[in-house]
Amino acid sequence: MGEFELIRRHFQRPTNSYPDTVALGVGDDCALLQPTPGWQLAVSTDMLVEGRHFFPDVAAEALGHKALAVNLSDLAAMGARPLGFTLALSLPAADDAWLAAFARGLFALADAHACPLVGGDTTRGPLNICITVMGEVQPQQALRRDAARAGDDLYLSGRTGEARLALELMRGTDWAVGHAGMPALAQLRERLERPTPRLALGRALAGVAHAALDVSDGLAGDLGHILAASGVGAVIDTAALPVAPDLRGLPPEHRLDCLLNGGDDYELLFTAPPAQRQAVAAAAVASATPVQRIGRVHAGAGLCVREADGRERPWSPHGFDHFA
Ligand code: ADP
Ligand code: MG
Repeated sequence: MGEFELIRRHFQRPTNSYPDTVALGVGDDCALLQPTPGWQLAVSTDMLVEGRHFFPDVAAEALGHKALAVNLSDLAAMGARPLGFTLALSLPAADDAWLAAFARGLFALADAHACPLVGGDTTRGPLNICITVMGEVQPQQALRRDAARAGDDLYLSGRTGEARLALELMRGTDWAVGHAGMPALAQLRERLERPTPRLALGRALAGVAHAALDVSDGLAGDLGHILAASGVGAVIDTAALPVAPDLRGLPPEHRLDCLLNGGDDYELLFTAPPAQRQAVAAAAVASATPVQRIGRVHAGAGLCVREADGRERPWSPHGFDHFA
C-alpha cells in the first residue's frame, strides 16, 4: 500500500456530508471551508507523540479518538462550533489493521461532533499524530483566558483526577496500587485514553461565561493561566470539588494532588458572574453535562485552597510542563 492508496483507503471518504461548510475536502492542494458569514475562525493544534503522550501499546482505536478529542476540547473551551480538521500523521509502517482501527476511533468522534477531516499530510517516521481543528464562534462570544473578572464564580465540568490515577496505576506507583487497587484500572484507563470533549457545554456557555479553558495539564496549573491572563486571583473550595468513587479511598494528600494537579482531564474550567448562575445551570442541563461551582475569583493575585475546616492556604501548582 503506497502513500496515496493509504490516504484514499483510510482517510478519504467518498461523499461530502457537509456541503454547507466544506466546499472541498481531502484530495486537492487545499481544503476550502465556508464559515458562517461574520463569525470568527477558531484554530488550534495539538500533537501526540509516542512515549510522551501515550504508551506504545495503546489501542489504535483509542488513539484515534484521543488525538481528535484533545483538539475538540480546545474548541469547546473557546465556545466554538467545529468546522473541520486536518491530520498530519507520521507512521513507522503502513499497517492496514492499525490504520483501520485508528480511523474508526477518529471518525466515530468526528461524526459525533459533525467535524469532518478535510486534509492532512502522511509521512514515514516515528509515530506522531498532529491534528489542527478549525471552528467558528460569534465575535465577542469566544471564551478567552483573559476575560475573568473579580467577583466571578469559578466552575468545573465533570470531575478531575481519574486520568492521573490511571497513569499512576499503570506505572505501579505504591500509593495508587495500595489504595485504589488494580481492579479499578479498566474503568480509569477509559478516562485517560478516551476523554470526552465538552463541546455542547462550551457552545452553551458562549455569551454566558467570562473566561474558560480546558483542563489538560492539571486544574490548579491551568487555572493559573486564567488568573495570570486576567490579572486576578482565586480561591478553590476543596470540599466543593467532585470526587470520583475510585479516588475516595486515597490518602487525602494524594487525593488532592490528583484533583488539583492531575492532568489529561479535558474538563472545562470557567468563570461567570454571579448574575449568570441560572444561565450556567441552564447550559449544564441543555448540554447534559455536570457542572459544579468550585470557588470564586477575586481582585489580587495567586491561588488559594480553602479546606473543609475553612482555613485558606496558598497553593502552588505542579501542573505538567514538558520543559520544566
Ligand atoms: P501535497 O503534496 O499537495 O501536500 P499530499 O500528497 O501530501 O499533497 O496529500 C494529498 C491529499 O491528501 C491532500 O489533499 C492532503 O490534504 C490529503 N492528505 C494527506 N494525508 C492525509 C491524512 N493523513 N488525512 C487526510 N488527508 C490527507
Ligand atoms: Mg503534503
